Amino acid sequence: MTNTKMKRVCILGSTGSIGTQTLQVISEHPDLFEAYVLTANSRADLLIQQAKEYKPQCVVIADESKYEYVRDALADDPVQVYTGAEALCQVVQMEPVDIVLTALVGFSGLRPTISAIRAGKPIALANKETLVVAGELITGLCLEHRVPLLPVDSEHSAIFQSLMGEVSAVEKIILTASGGPFRTFTLDQLRDVTPAQALKHPNWDMGAKITIDSASMMNKGFEVIEARWLFDVAPDKIQVVVHPQSILHSAVQFEDGAVKGQLGMPDMRVPIQLALSYPQRLKSSFPRIDWWDLKDLTFEKPDAEKFRCLQMAYEAIRMGGNAACIVNAANEVANLAFRQERCKFLQMADVIEQTLQRIPHQEKPTLQDYLDCDSETRIIANEIINTKS
Ligand code: NDP
Ligand code: MG
Repeated sequence: MTNTKMKRVCILGSTGSIGTQTLQVISEHPDLFEAYVLTANSRADLLIQQAKEYKPQCVVIADESKYEYVRDALADDPVQVYTGAEALCQVVQMEPVDIVLTALVGFSGLRPTISAIRAGKPIALANKETLVVAGELITGLCLEHRVPLLPVDSEHSAIFQSLMGEVSAVEKIILTASGGPFRTFTLDQLRDVTPAQALKHPNWDMGAKITIDSASMMNKGFEVIEARWLFDVAPDKIQVVVHPQSILHSAVQFEDGAVKGQLGMPDMRVPIQLALSYPQRLKSSFPRIDWWDLKDLTFEKPDAEKFRCLQMAYEAIRMGGNAACIVNAANEVANLAFRQERCKFLQMADVIEQTLQRIPHQEKPTLQDYLDCDSETRIIANEIINTKS
C-alpha cells in the first residue's frame, strides 16, 4: 500500500554539499521521504553509490561522457539512468515527484527549476543563483503555477521562519553574514590571498564555488537579491549585518520595533529538513545550542571597501533587467578563474564591474534573453581575465 504521507523528492545535485545533507535528512525520516530522483554532474562513483543505497527510480549523470560507466555499474539495479542537461529538465516533471530540491551550482539550475515550476512541483530552493539571475521571471512563474518556493539557504529559512504567523508589514530584514575567512584582513592582506585560504570557511563546510563567494561576500550580495525576490522587499530594507558566530541565522524587524530571528547551530540540515517537511517541523538528532558554551554573539558593519561585490549586488537590483544575470555570469567566470589561479582575489570584483559596463542593459528579459546574456557575459568576462593576466 502506498504511504500517502510519503514525499518523493527529486534532488538536483545529490552529490554536492547540500545534496548529500538532503540525503542525510531523508535517512532520518525513511517513513516520510523517499529519494525518487538523484542527479550529478560528473561525480559518477558517488552517484552510483547513492543509487545503490537509496534506490531511486532514476538518476541523471549530466556529463554525457560518464553515461555508459554509470549505466553499466547500475545494470543490475532497478534504476533508470539518463544523461545530459535536457534530462534534468525532464526528470523534475515526473508525475510521482512531490518536491524538487534544487542544489545545482550557478546558472545550470535555471532551466530545470523553470521546468519543475511549469509542472507544478513545489521547489525547495538552495540554488540561489536561479533567483539572482531571473528573480522576476521565477517568482512570476511560481505565482502563475501556484508553486511554493521554500528557502533552503539558512538566512532565508530564518527570515521565512520569522515571518511565520505574521500578517503585518516588515520594516527591515536583518541578513546576517559570517564575514568569511577574510573578515579581519586588511585590503593589503587581501591582495595575495590564495584559493586554499579562501576555501577554509570558519563556520560552514560547503561546495567550492559558494565558499569562494562567501570569502568575497558576493554570496551575501546574492542573498540580498534572493531575499528581495523571496520576500518581495525593497533592497534598501535589507540590512547586512556581520555576525561571525553564525548562530543568529537572520531576523525580521517589524514596524513596532520588535525583532524576530531564528537561532541554531550552523547546520544546513535544519533548513533543508524544514523545506521538505513544511508546514510541519520534524524531530531531529542534529546538534543543539549549548547556551553555556556560547561566549559571544557579536555584530559588525560589513566593510564596503574590502568587499565590493556586496555593493555590486545592491547596484544590480537597482539597475534591474539583465544586470544581476550579468553579475552572476561574470562572477561564475571570475570565481573559477580565481580557483584556477588565473585571477587574483580582489580582481574578481574588477572583472564583474567591467563586464557589467560592457554588456548592453535589457529591461524585461525573456528566458531566451537570459540564456543569451549568460553566454555573452561569459565570453566578455573571460576576455577581461585573459587581458589582465
Ligand atoms: P556543490 O558544488 O557541493 O554541489 C553541486 C551539485 O550540483 C553537485 O551534485 C554537482 O555534481 C552538481 N552540478 C554542478 N554543476 C552542474 C551542472 N552544470 N549540471 C548538472 N549538475 C551540476 O555545491 P553546494 O551543495 O555547496 O551548493 C549547491 C547550491 O546551494 C548552490 O547554488 C549554493 O549557492 C547553494 N547553497 C549551498 C549551501 C551550502 O552549505 N553548501 C548553503 C546555501 C546555499 P558533481 O558532484 O558531479 O560535480
Ligand atoms: Mg546562506
